[in-house]
Amino acid sequence: MTLPVADKYNIEFGDVTRAKFDWLKSKEYAGWVVFVDTNTRRDCLPLIEKFLDHPRLLIIECAPGELNKNLGTCQELWSQMFDGGVGRRWCAICLGGGVLEDMSGFVASTFKRGIDFLQIPTTLLAQVDSSVGGKLGVDFYELKNSLGVFNDPIAVWIDHRFLRTLPAREIRSGFAEVIKHALIADAGQWGRIQKIIDLTVVDWSELIPASVNIKREVVLEDPFERGVRKSLNFGHTIGHAIESYFLETEQRLFHGEAIAAGMIMEAWISYQLATLTVSDYQLIESYFLKLYGHQVILESSFDQLFALMANDKKNDDHRINFTLLAEPGRALINQFAGRPVIESAIRHYN
Ligand code: ADP
Ligand code: ZN
Repeated sequence: MTLPVADKYNIEFGDVTRAKFDWLKSKEYAGWVVFVDTNTRRDCLPLIEKFLDHPRLLIIECAPGELNKNLGTCQELWSQMFDGGVGRRWCAICLGGGVLEDMSGFVASTFKRGIDFLQIPTTLLAQVDSSVGGKLGVDFYELKNSLGVFNDPIAVWIDHRFLRTLPAREIRSGFAEVIKHALIADAGQWGRIQKIIDLTVVDWSELIPASVNIKREVVLEDPFERGVRKSLNFGHTIGHAIESYFLETEQRLFHGEAIAAGMIMEAWISYQLATLTVSDYQLIESYFLKLYGHQVILESSFDQLFALMANDKKNDDHRINFTLLAEPGRALINQFAGRPVIESAIRHYN
């Protein structure tokens, strides 16, 4: 199955096969540089290794994790590219989760003013979210994704077999974005998703393309986040604050776990300030609690969370804007919520 992104590139679903690499070969790149991290080298590279038969092949590995998504690592990657003889006519193959994809795509996009790159995302989060939409970059000054560019890959290949080695907690974290896509844009999908309780028996072959398609349509309509793309921020205003809060306390909280809590709270605000009904709010809350349980125990103080929200780079003039739900499947962007209702949402959940 193929989803075209305008007339720019294709997102291809299904097994990564020799035929796909034959297409890459037909582009006659001078060489291929493959970016992996320690884990994707061990678990994901073996699935495609046999197809990597370019005579000029360079494999570059970096340490995994958000803590390494910075300019220091980029510098190491750029150095290895220069030392390995990578030139303008090479293609980068980025094999990894969102961290590796964002960073290596950025490294490729800036190397000698930019070389082509292909994305093969290997986490659920990267497959349904970060690999669609052209945002690339790294963290700087402890701010997530504060340096980067918008740039398109030559293709995205999404193969759910990579998820077999992904830890269960990573799957559950990525699944929060799948739920989000349904809640903001597809009521039918939200209905189907609520039947999913056991993430070890999901048929990804339909769910992932459906989820990617929602994001693709939003991004096509508004590539630079001036309007409708903001609907993807549902759950993220409070979710990002929770994520940052836990980063400071050195307790590990995955992105999806933080935004799952954020979505419950922002659904509550949607019930208070918009037209979300109490029964829809309750369905949303109980589904998230069933799936994420008490993973997210919030012992955070409201004042700290509020300060983090007020500092978020997405808020102009320190006004805290939300993407809310009018109903499941329909988002409302640029909704202002005052301090009392935000406080009630956080306390209600705690
Ligand atoms: P994300 O933002 O998508 O969660 P990361 O790149 O941080 O991205 O990936 C999460 C973790 O999972 C990293 O430690 C990474 O090395 C590891 N990882 C990525 N893909 C796989 C996979 N298919 N199997 C096993 N581990 C993986
Ligand atoms: Zn997110």
